[in-house]
Amino acid sequence: MTRQVKVKNILIGGGAQIPVQSMLNVPTSDVSASLRQIRKLEKAGCDLVRLTVNDEAAAKALPDIIAKSPVPLIADIHFDYRLAIAAINAGIAKLRINPGNIGDSKRVKAVAEAAGKAGVPIRIGVNSGSLREDVKNKVLSGKLSLGEAMGRHALGEAKLLERFGFRDIVISVKATNVPETVRAYEFLHENCDYPLHIGITEAGTVEDALLKSGAGLGHLLLKGIGDTLRISITGPVEKEAEAGRKLLQFLGLRPYGPEVVSCPTCGRTQVALEKVAESVGRALRSNRELKDFDCKVAVMGCVVNGPGEASAADVGLAGGKGYFLLFSKGKALRRVSPEEAVEALVNELLALKKGKKAKINK
Ligand code: SF4
Repeated sequence: MTRQVKVKNILIGGGAQIPVQSMLNVPTSDVSASLRQIRKLEKAGCDLVRLTVNDEAAAKALPDIIAKSPVPLIADIHFDYRLAIAAINAGIAKLRINPGNIGDSKRVKAVAEAAGKAGVPIRIGVNSGSLREDVKNKVLSGKLSLGEAMGRHALGEAKLLERFGFRDIVISVKATNVPETVRAYEFLHENCDYPLHIGITEAGTVEDALLKSGAGLGHLLLKGIGDTLRISITGPVEKEAEAGRKLLQFLGLRPYGPEVVSCPTCGRTQVALEKVAESVGRALRSNRELKDFDCKVAVMGCVVNGPGEASAADVGLAGGKGYFLLFSKGKALRRVSPEEAVEALVNELLALKKGKKAKINK
């Protein structure tokens, strides 16, 4: 069990529900653009949002953004300890900083004391690209694996804060390489009790990022490693939040509304399944009443495997020759045309949600 830190109303570690994070990609100095993105992220299921505080203009914008943000915010700081203090004074909920890159111990002490007094936790975020020269050389000479090197580096950074009595720490050790990232987190899991923020860094555009993150983070989470996460994607930020929530949902760790299973189709398929499955996904995501309804929906191509799979779901469709059979709680209700299939499924789910008994056609 890891220690627990409190980021305003969000808990990280100690068995708490795993919060999903993302990061803004607009300049922090642009208050309205920042708030627009924060709201989009919150709508997509993001619990904590990080933003860069890279200059004075960004620090000055913080009070306005913090005052209107629906979720706690994390300031990402590099090099300038004064920006960290300014973010704390502005009411930031958490910092991401590497003590080793903000200068001498007086500066680290100033940040640790200000953060401690304000109850602001600090994430130490070590990336494969930001290792100290001496540690990097050990990796290059084969004395240490990249994963272990990142883990050791992060613990060294944590010691710089511990010297000043600061232990409200979260650690991340992200590489672009999935096995090394996993090794780094396993090392930390064995060697400290700080909560771990897990992620694969610079994971690429949507498809690659989802595969890399699913593989690495899925492995860790199934082993019980990871207290908060970010899925890093070169793409729309809200995709990061959606992907994070879906990953937790698929691992059975956190609900995220309806889960749609659909078959890959084969030679038996006689309906336009892909189109219908995509429409079902869209309809469920955009339905206010259903988007938070935790249920399972199956969209299957045929009535051979279809009913079996569909019966494991709350509501399902199984394709026939130019029609679908609508199922609810394992019972076949009626035939519907491909055009009415999505609406019929949505109505059935709404009825289920309201607790009404499904009407069964004999
Ligand atoms: S459910 Fe039917 S259509 Fe879909 S892959 Fe299986 S056998 Fe093929």
